[in-house]
Amino acid sequence: MIIIGIVAFVLFFYHSFSTSLEEEKKAQSKNFIESALGIIQHFHQLELSHKLTTTDAQKMAMRTLESATYGDDGYFWINDSQGKILVQPYMPNLVGLNMTNWADSTGKYIFKEFAREAKNGGGWVSYTWPKHNSATEYPKMSYVAHYPAWDWFIGTGLYLDDMKTNIFWAVFRTTGVLLFGFLIFIFTTFIIVNYFVHQLSELSVRDALTNLYTKRFLKEISPALLNHNKLTDHHLTVIFIDLDHFKSINDIHGHDNGDKVIKQVANVMVHNAKKSDYCMRYGGEEFVLIGFFKNEIDAIDMAEMIRHQVSEISFKNDEYEFNVTLSAGIALHNNQSDDSFEKTLKRADVKLYEAKIAGRDRVVL
Ligand code: GH3
Ligand code: MG
Ligand code: MG
Repeated sequence: MIIIGIVAFVLFFYHSFSTSLEEEKKAQSKNFIESALGIIQHFHQLELSHKLTTTDAQKMAMRTLESATYGDDGYFWINDSQGKILVQPYMPNLVGLNMTNWADSTGKYIFKEFAREAKNGGGWVSYTWPKHNSATEYPKMSYVAHYPAWDWFIGTGLYLDDMKTNIFWAVFRTTGVLLFGFLIFIFTTFIIVNYFVHQLSELSVRDALTNLYTKRFLKEISPALLNHNKLTDHHLTVIFIDLDHFKSINDIHGHDNGDKVIKQVANVMVHNAKKSDYCMRYGGEEFVLIGFFKNEIDAIDMAEMIRHQVSEISFKNDEYEFNVTLSAGIALHNNQSDDSFEKTLKRADVKLYEAKIAGRDRVVL
């Protein structure tokens, strides 16, 4: 659909843009002729005010217009009413020749056509004419006007193939720029939308107090975790953490200080976790770290590190400092006995319970 839309847009754009460019090029030629008539008139005025003789005024006008080329190979030509060429900058050998009875490659007596259109108030004549430095005649359109006082016909034209080539490249460039802009727009929109979708989905699975993942996220990723577990020689491992005597912490130091403790424990977890591990706030003061560990020792080291670092933090309430300990239970996923990830979690929870029973502030596997 998008490709059809782009093709339709390009075709429509090419058609309308090339038509208006063609009109603009023709209007430009007409304007050049108006300017050229202004130049002729200027020298004619000098003749009328006797500052120049007729011959000198005409010679100077011819010389000025002969050198007034424009664009790639735009030029002015001048004939008199007898069909004699007065100015032809690219074919000087024709200057002075009477061309009234000369026909172009299609058999058209173009100098007679020029005279007719020019005397009718100016107009366009289509014909064929050689290009600069070439003997072959190419289709051309010239706008031709009459300067009655000197009986001159002045014209300037466009080769149709050059005009079409110019228009093609102009349209090609503009279409390219527009398409490029369109693609950039689509790409940027995609990135922005993607970013916000990602942010929103992150928000829905992040805990507001700690910014850790929530229990809901665990449910979402557990199938992917189990799949990955089949592909790696590392072991999918759950470290279940629960703060010790947290009810008392809240009771003694207040709920706000309790929140600060929860935040700090989350920071310690994130700080120690590998990039590929997931840190979650499973419930009030319960946390889960899930990762792939080479062996049990590595998992115990990780849990011990968190336990140790948390126990070293000295928290402050308004009056004095206090410490917090935690207990942790570890379970490695077993492909044979654990038919779901829930089972591994449950086993880690059982180990955590054992740690509590055994006196807290410890890690049990
Ligand atoms: P145990 O060592 O057996 O774990 O004892 P405990 O007191 O920590 O017992 P338990 O884990 O059952 O208690 C959890 C307490 O954590 C209950 C509740 O007051 C507190 N709690 C839960 N969520 C929050 C919270 O978001 N902020 C604060 N400050 N306290 C919370
Ligand atoms: Mg608890
Ligand atoms: Mg507790």
